[in-house]
Amino acid sequence: MTDIDGSAVAAEIRSGVANCVETLTEAGVEPALATVLMSDDPASETYVSMKQNDCEEVGIEGVHVDVDSEAPAAELYDTIDELNADDGVHGILVQMPVVDHVDTRRVLRSVDPAKDVDGFHPENVGRLVAGNPRFKPCTPHGIQRLLDAAGVDTEGAEAVVVGRSDIVGKPTANLLFGRGEGGHATTTVCHSRTEDLAEHTRRADVVVAAAGVPEMITADMVSEGATVIDVGINRVERDGESTLVGDVDYEGVRDTAGAITPVPGGVGPMTRAMLLYNTVNAAAEQHGVDVDLP
Ligand code: NDP
Repeated sequence: MTDIDGSAVAAEIRSGVANCVETLTEAGVEPALATVLMSDDPASETYVSMKQNDCEEVGIEGVHVDVDSEAPAAELYDTIDELNADDGVHGILVQMPVVDHVDTRRVLRSVDPAKDVDGFHPENVGRLVAGNPRFKPCTPHGIQRLLDAAGVDTEGAEAVVVGRSDIVGKPTANLLFGRGEGGHATTTVCHSRTEDLAEHTRRADVVVAAAGVPEMITADMVSEGATVIDVGINRVERDGESTLVGDVDYEGVRDTAGAITPVPGGVGPMTRAMLLYNTVNAAAEQHGVDVDLP
C-alpha cells in the first residue's frame, strides 16, 4: 500500500504558483484574492485565515472582508459588487456556508464568473459540465492531481464517487468521466439512497469517498489494489479526545488498497493549493499574461 502524500504534491503546486506570481509581477500584475466571511462559525474563520496565510506564502495579495453576521443580506451582495468592480482583485471567495438570512444561490450568481476561483458560479458549473472548464473547483481538481501523482491512469478505469454534493461529488464525477486529462473513467455516483453501496465500491479501481460520514468505507468495501481518495473531514471523539478522521477506515482499508490518501495530509492541502492555482490563473487571464501553470 502506498500513502498518497497530499502535502508533498500541494507543496509542488504552491512552488509552481509562486513562479506564476513572479511572472505576473514582472508583467506589472499583483495577483490578489479577496475572501469574504459572513458567519460566526469558528471553523469558517479558521478556513479563511488559512487561505489568507496560503496566499501570503506564495506572494498573492490577500484581501479579507468581514461582513457582520447580523447585517442585512444586501451588505454582502454590495461587498461582492464592489470586489467585482475592483480591478486590483482577481479572485473572490465567499466562505460557505453563509448565515441563514442570505440567499446562497444569489451569492454564487453574484460573483463575477471571471473572478469565481471556487468555480461555483452557474456559468462556470455549466462550462465544467460542457467539458470546457474555466476554473476547475478546488477539491475535485486536487483529487485529479493526486490521482495523477499516484500514477493512476483513469482512462477506462472504474471510478466510484460516494457523494453527490455540488462542491465535491458532482464536479469530481464530471472531471473523472470527462474527456479531459485525468478523465475518461467509467464513473458511478453513489449517494444516501444508493442500494448496496459496497456492491459499487467493490468493483471500483478508484473510490472517492465524499459523504461526510466518519470511516464508512471499510476494508470489505474496497477491492484489492484499488486507489482510495478520502475527501471526508470529520471531527470525532476518540478515547476522550477530539480527533479528525476521514470517510474511510484508514487502518482497515490500507492493507487492501493499492494507494490511499491519509486524513489529514491528503485531499485537504490540495484543495488549498488549487485555490492559489485558480487565483493566478484568473489574474493571468484578466490581464492577458502568459504563465506556466503548475
Ligand atoms: P455534503 O453533506 O454536501 O454531501 C454529502 C453527500 O454524501 C451527499 O450527496 C449524501 O447523499 C452522501 N451521503 C451521505 N451519507 C451517505 C451514505 N451513508 N452513503 C452514501 N452516500 C451518503 O458534503 P460535502 O460534499 O460538502 O463534503 C463531504 C465530506 O468532504 C465532508 O466530510 C466534508 O467535510 C469534506 N470536505 C473536504 C474537503 C477537503 O478539502 N478535504 C473539501 C470539501 C468537503 P444525499 O445527496 O442523498 O444526501
